Amino acid sequence: MSPIPLVIIGGGPAGYTAAIYAARAGLHPVLYQGPNPGGQLTITGDVENYPGYRNGITGPAMMEDFQAQAERFGTIVKAGTITKVDFAAYPLELILDSGEKVVAKAVIIAAGASAKWLGLPGEKRLYGRGVSACAICDGFFFKGKTVVVVGGGDTAAEESLYLANLCQQVHLLVRKDHMRASKIMQERVLKNPTIQVWFQTEVKDIIGQETVEAIEVINPEATTRIPAAGLFVAIGHQPNTLPFLPYITVDHQGYIQTNPGTTQTNIPGVFAAGDIQDPHYRQAVTAAGTGCMAALDAERFLQQASRN
Ligand SMILES: Cc1cc2nc3c(=O)[nH]c(=O)nc-3n(C[C@H](O)[C@H](O)[C@H](O)COP(=O)(O)OP(=O)(O)OC[C@H]3O[C@@H](n4cnc5c(N)ncnc54)[C@H](O)[C@@H]3O)c2cc1C
Repeated sequence: MSPIPLVIIGGGPAGYTAAIYAARAGLHPVLYQGPNPGGQLTITGDVENYPGYRNGITGPAMMEDFQAQAERFGTIVKAGTITKVDFAAYPLELILDSGEKVVAKAVIIAAGASAKWLGLPGEKRLYGRGVSACAICDGFFFKGKTVVVVGGGDTAAEESLYLANLCQQVHLLVRKDHMRASKIMQERVLKNPTIQVWFQTEVKDIIGQETVEAIEVINPEATTRIPAAGLFVAIGHQPNTLPFLPYITVDHQGYIQTNPGTTQTNIPGVFAAGDIQDPHYRQAVTAAGTGCMAALDAERFLQQASRN
């Protein structure tokens, strides 16, 4: 089996951007789309902050453009999920969910991250219609309205502070009797007059048929209905690293670690781009940016490998 020069794992903004650059550089990349072709943006409505689309665009339409642009330059886009790898071997070995084995000279992991959810029935039903996991992405749609944020860590604190600049009122629900967020973030939240913090409080139900109308919350004292147009779940993200874990070094939160300023992982020839290596920004444009970096890093690696 002759190795594929470059395999890209993931069909989101990072993977497709890597594919565009790699294909234009003549690397003939093969991209596996995984369980969610198009990535996280396929489950959102309008994307208004991706440069170049001055009137905004729906997430699915944007990802169709990404794929078409990657294919235009010769990227081979395939269905299939990587379930296992052997990165101790070289060429690098990947096993697909079909059982097929693929070997590659270089690999870009752009498998993204998934938001953690509360698991309430209304959450799925009203997703994109009031329920969100990304304040920077969706906060604008709640300008001047009341929203509820769930979580006690730094992410929840950051999301609350971001929303407090846009919304009339932010209710932050913290499950424990204290926040896990860093001291400075806690202070900022507690001092902010727009944010009301509810300790020992959990969501019981999300009320609304077509859109979110209220959040029913429960704490040791009472069950309360908070009228609100939005629910932001900020209880963390899970990077999709499982198939790569035996070989790839991750940080304490589970994100792939790369050498600073590059997309190089601890395995030569394996690069990481997008949300799977980014606990901070998690935006389509930053994912695309690191996708570009990964393609350039892979190109250099392959050039060097061909000289040796
Ligand atoms: C509801 C919502 C709204 C958002 N709105 C915005 C917005 O308005 N603007 C913005 O900039 N950002 C927005 N974001 C964030 C943005 O979607 C992400 O930052 C971006 O999609 C990350 O890109 P990615 O390519 O790293 O990963 P993803 O988009 O998560 O794509 C990952 C890809 O990897 C594939 N994959 C996973 N595991 C495997 C595997 N084992 N084998 C093969 N493939 C695999 C998946 O199928 C998927 O195709 C939003 C996110 C959400 C959830």
